[in-house]
Amino acid sequence: MHRAVVVGSGPNGLAAALRLARAGWQVTLVEAAEEIGGALRSETLSPGGPVHDLGASAHPLAMVSPALRGLGTPRSGAVPTGAGAAGMWRWADFDLAHPLDDGRVALVTRGRPGEVSGDWAFGHTGGPSRVPDVSAEAAASLGPDARRWRRLIEPVVDGFPELAADVLALPRRVPRRPVRLARFGLRAALPATVVARRFVDAPAAALWTGLAAHGFGRLDRPLTSAAGLLLGAAAHFTGWPVAAGGSAAIVETLSAQLVAAGVQVRTGYRVDSYADLIAAVDGVPDAVLLATGPQAAACIAGARIPARITRALGRYRYGPAAFVVHYELDRPVPWTAKDCGRAAVVHLGGTAAQIAEAERDTAAGRMPESPFVLVSQQHVADPGRIRAGRVPIQAYAHVPHGYGGDAAAVVTAQIERFARGFADTVLARHARGPTALQRWNANLVGGDIAGGATAGLQLLARPRLSTNPYRLGARGLYLCSASTPPGGGVHGMSGWQAAGVVLADQRRGDR
Ligand SMILES: Cc1cc2nc3c(=O)[nH]c(=O)nc-3n(C[C@H](O)[C@H](O)[C@H](O)COP(=O)(O)OP(=O)(O)OC[C@H]3O[C@@H](n4cnc5c(N)ncnc54)[C@H](O)[C@@H]3O)c2cc1C
Repeated sequence: MHRAVVVGSGPNGLAAALRLARAGWQVTLVEAAEEIGGALRSETLSPGGPVHDLGASAHPLAMVSPALRGLGTPRSGAVPTGAGAAGMWRWADFDLAHPLDDGRVALVTRGRPGEVSGDWAFGHTGGPSRVPDVSAEAAASLGPDARRWRRLIEPVVDGFPELAADVLALPRRVPRRPVRLARFGLRAALPATVVARRFVDAPAAALWTGLAAHGFGRLDRPLTSAAGLLLGAAAHFTGWPVAAGGSAAIVETLSAQLVAAGVQVRTGYRVDSYADLIAAVDGVPDAVLLATGPQAAACIAGARIPARITRALGRYRYGPAAFVVHYELDRPVPWTAKDCGRAAVVHLGGTAAQIAEAERDTAAGRMPESPFVLVSQQHVADPGRIRAGRVPIQAYAHVPHGYGGDAAAVVTAQIERFARGFADTVLARHARGPTALQRWNANLVGGDIAGGATAGLQLLARPRLSTNPYRLGARGLYLCSASTPPGGGVHGMSGWQAAGVVLADQRRGDR
């Protein structure tokens, strides 16, 4: 039987381990933290308090990812988390809200008239869900730009699962819909600031710019429309669901499948060298998949990989960081624009120009006075998250790479700007800046939560220019974290694809 070790148990490590185990391999999954899940973990932060998603909270990509779509827990087999109904996706009325200082708010909701709504188990792939009576409100929120918005997003929404699968599987799979992918590529190549100019009014331009800002970095550069188009279309197609009970419910579902597939899991074991790795499995495995950062992978692999690849991994660049604040409130956020209280995610930063400027600052290493802030209020979709009268929300600001200051007050001020009285609702606040994030999860280098800069060529060629970015240039050694295609986000595709390469290499070797 072939043996593999996977290092790192975020969504990519989990997907890699599952794919190999299901192909009959004996797999050991090694994780530095005491719990598996990587940036998909949830925890309580105060005694008896609510569960917080410590990393990812909204899951549009998980729903369309070929790797995670196969989660496949039927409703009846949902995995219990102890936090109520689990193994289920939950949606808010609106998937996204973007308020402005003048009280207007741009809204996005999912689907088109007549399509189903309700709770779905993880693994459901039936198509979009919607709450029929709010799409008119969402369209109205865009005013004169509603038709322009539709013209921008609709070509990506049509056939979205196939397009998303093609994008997420790049560069390893021949696209199923090459013409559509090429058309998407042409639009994605535009700078987000250029696309923003097609809107005549502030709400739609701000909404678009906030979506594009998920890519972290300057928005006046080529390819910065990719994140906006993908996440915007996902918001319309699948919505941005949260996991009932917390994102850790997704990990629990995957964990049950790991157990069923016979994967051995070793937690609390950090791998810093090849010797650590060998010790973890008691022998030399046929394949080692590192769901770590590229530089950590180079250290672990040591002299086993060619010097030119070590050098290329050493040149890998990280992007701006997140400064995360988890709040516990005595009531929901008192948004000035009331509809923000019906959205699972709220983008804060003001107009398109203000967000673009803040993103330019963070990319240049300057802390903006008014950074782009993303607020996840999962309880709006999943009311069970409120516990003991404490309402958990997560907010994070885009800050410069490795930022060493305390941005918690700035994050609070940004929320207060659009929700007067917010500060008075705060019962507890837990802040984690770049250093604390990296201490929590070594892959979050300098607080970069996207697995590396997405600027320029590195969006496509990560961790280096190569026809096979998962191979590390030595037999049996592979990289499979978010620093490989398709990049950051909870989709598991980096791990899934790398495992596919391992299986193909093994078949070739066995012949
Ligand atoms: C605050 C935050 C909010 C986010 N929000 C979203 C969101 O809403 N939606 C979304 O789709 N994505 C979101 N993301 C991004 C998403 O979580 C990541 O892109 C994704 O988890 C990357 O998966 P991964 O498997 O590559 O690595 P990770 O999930 O980062 O996991 C890496 C794991 O490897 C372990 N590890 C690292 N080095 C070693 C070592 N040497 N030895 C042993 N173990 C090691 C770490 O401990 C960690 O458990 C967010 C991330 C963060 C941090």
